[in-house]
Amino acid sequence: FAGAIDADAVIIGAGPVGLFQVFELGLLEIKAHVIDSLPAVGGQCVELYPDKPIYDIPAVPVCTGQELTDNLLKQIEPFEPTFHLGQEVTTVQRREDGRFNVETSTGTQFITKTIFIAAGVGSFQARTMKVDGLEKFENSQLFYRVKDPALFEGKNLVICGGGDSALDWALNFVGKAESVVLLHRREDFRAAPASVAKMKALCDEYEMQLITGQVTGFDEADGKLTEVKVTGADGVTRRVPLDMLLVFFGLSPKLGPIAEWGLDIERKQLKVMDTEKFETNVPGIFAVGDINTYPGKKKLILSGFHEAALAAFGAAPYIFPDKKIHMQYTTTSPKLHKILGVE
Ligand code: FAD
Repeated sequence: FAGAIDADAVIIGAGPVGLFQVFELGLLEIKAHVIDSLPAVGGQCVELYPDKPIYDIPAVPVCTGQELTDNLLKQIEPFEPTFHLGQEVTTVQRREDGRFNVETSTGTQFITKTIFIAAGVGSFQARTMKVDGLEKFENSQLFYRVKDPALFEGKNLVICGGGDSALDWALNFVGKAESVVLLHRREDFRAAPASVAKMKALCDEYEMQLITGQVTGFDEADGKLTEVKVTGADGVTRRVPLDMLLVFFGLSPKLGPIAEWGLDIERKQLKVMDTEKFETNVPGIFAVGDINTYPGKKKLILSGFHEAALAAFGAAPYIFPDKKIHMQYTTTSPKLHKILGVE
């Protein structure tokens, strides 16, 4: 772990609870690194319901999933958390000195005194296309997310899926790619009706093409994917030549590597020892939000916020062993005003 980032606190998961954990740690003068496998913060709120209203955040009569996330980001600004997005935490290991080695899928390494697992329902991963042998083209001709749109310009694209991601990217690439074929297994779409209407209009103008069916096979030449075989509802299999295959079948959460870190797990959730600190069976590792379980647990954002506050107090002695930690009001504490930068 030479070259690892030296940290007091690492938060795994940038959902609402992971974000608020930054705030509660910040008030205790503990700086945090936040890691999420998704490219954007917000967890379920942004991934699953960005535009839907939430009505049970205390003192916020209504806000959308995206608005809640934006407000949390603003609230934690004074604490300058460091975000490490688009990388999954794969390894957590206790070191002989009592701290932890943490490593992500992209190789970022941390040595940290405490860990806060705010991993919700697990890390969201793209649902893959289940066609034998196709996986060898991943990241060369088969993609589950668009990192660099320029890669697809001037290419013959087949885009699979019926949700917003598939439709948005199909519409985006019309005019930029050499050709765009949208492939969906059914006639009806989950995507926004306006996007579906726009796609149909573009098909009528021969700017792109819509095929109803599923990929059931492929052909290759010289190690390159040359075409997919698409079986339609009529049972007929057609060949569709392509340069690039983009698949947007949605994301499914997986507990994934968390199961291998020696933590007590009950029905895919992390058991916490008590509701005083929300610490797991491994001292120094805390679990907050949807990922944890204890008697009476409710998977609500407000419960996660409360857990984050108590976990921060529970963790402080690992970081400041000699400091007496007092609870103070943000309203009246000059010290907290200084920390918040509102003097
Ligand atoms: P999440 O929001 O699940 O975030 C966890 C994050 O951790 C994810 O971004 C994930 O990618 C990341 N992660 C996981 N594992 C790893 C790893 N190994 N490495 C890196 N990153 C990882 N709650 C309410 O209180 N009120 C409501 O009205 C409400 N409405 C809802 C409506 C819907 C449709 C849904 C699906 C949920 C709703 N909820 C509501 C529940 C609420 O969204 C969750 O309680 C909340 O999102 C939990 O927050 P979290 O931060 O614990 O986890």
